[in-house]
Amino acid sequence: MPSAPPSPPPRDVFVWDATLLTGLDDVDAAHHHLVDLFNALNRALFQGPGSGMSDQAQQAVFDELMAYARQHFEEEEQLMRDAGLDERHRRLHERLHREFVEQVRSMWDTRGQLRDPAETLMGFLTAWLGLHIMGVDQSMARQLALMRAGVPASEAYAREEQHPDRGMANLLRMVGQLYHVLAERNRDLERANATLEQRVRERTAALEAANRRLEAFSRIDGLLGIANRGYFDERLREEIARHARQGRPLALVMFDVDHFKRYNDRYGHQAGDACLQAVARALQAQFYREPDLLARYGGEELVALLADTDADGARLVAERAVAAVRALGMPHEDSPTAPVVTVSAGVASRTPTSSADGACLLHLADEALYAAKRAGRDRVVVAAATDSP
Ligand code: GH3
Ligand code: MG
Ligand code: MG
Repeated sequence: MPSAPPSPPPRDVFVWDATLLTGLDDVDAAHHHLVDLFNALNRALFQGPGSGMSDQAQQAVFDELMAYARQHFEEEEQLMRDAGLDERHRRLHERLHREFVEQVRSMWDTRGQLRDPAETLMGFLTAWLGLHIMGVDQSMARQLALMRAGVPASEAYAREEQHPDRGMANLLRMVGQLYHVLAERNRDLERANATLEQRVRERTAALEAANRRLEAFSRIDGLLGIANRGYFDERLREEIARHARQGRPLALVMFDVDHFKRYNDRYGHQAGDACLQAVARALQAQFYREPDLLARYGGEELVALLADTDADGARLVAERAVAAVRALGMPHEDSPTAPVVTVSAGVASRTPTSSADGACLLHLADEALYAAKRAGRDRVVVAAATDSP
């Protein structure tokens, strides 16, 4: 493949020539300097950040141009006031200065959205400056010249209307209007983009909030308001890994309501639900240490995850929990165990060494739970194999 020819150095887009002269020395010198600054910005833009000129440096060139333009406009407006130029011209002229600053600033700020920002910006700037100097500045200069020759301001303004360059002036005004429309479109685009961005931000925030709610829902059992099985499994994995790393014992307590089938049969399913909720609350009150977790393991089985707890510690907590449920004093007339609702608990604790220890702990706690059932319910049994992997 033939290699691309090296791109030519950027040329000056704005060439100073005699048609730009107004005959007012200070004004012409200022215009000349403005044109130099335009060409400097052109070089800065076409060299681009990729070839040495940083965004910051480009911004500095642009800022210098704008600061100088503003200063020049002020001086020109002062000159027109001092000379007593007709107010109709002054108003138009000042408005054009203001619009230039606004339009160029807006185009610069949104240049990131332009397909060809350097071309568009420079095209806009040069056309604007050219039109301004050849149009309204020349008209100002002609009126000032007439006034110096003794013609009153309003007469000078009126003669301007008959000036042979009138056709040219109209043409310039129309092209100027085109640029005005272009700048307006650009501003609309800017506004539309800003609203779009705002809307996207609002949507994103709403979605994130909804996601957080969904996440919370998916972690919590709808009936009991405690963690669900999915969240328990996730936390168990994390805690197994953490305890293995730290060489600390992790305990599980599996709870099961005694003779719950009979409770449902006697009091109805709704009463059964309310009973489960009361049991969950009573158990929850026992597990208040930050990393501890009580979850619904399924049906009327609940499981507690006790961080950094050995078998003796877990047995103590489990016995307190079993006592707390009994202390609720919820009548269970069909229970052969007690006249009130009771739970049984199976405890297992070990210092995990691998991820397989999660399933192992669950299995041990479950076995201990059924040992508690067999031993008469309303009690705690600690797994025999606990902490001896
Ligand atoms: P055991 O003391 O041996 O545990 O006897 P049990 O009757 O509690 O044992 P089993 O596991 O056979 O019965 C559990 C019952 O719990 C059966 C099921 O209908 C009931 N159950 C499970 N989940 C819910 C629930 O969300 N609400 C209600 N009301 N009942 C439930
Ligand atoms: Mg049961
Ligand atoms: Mg059961």
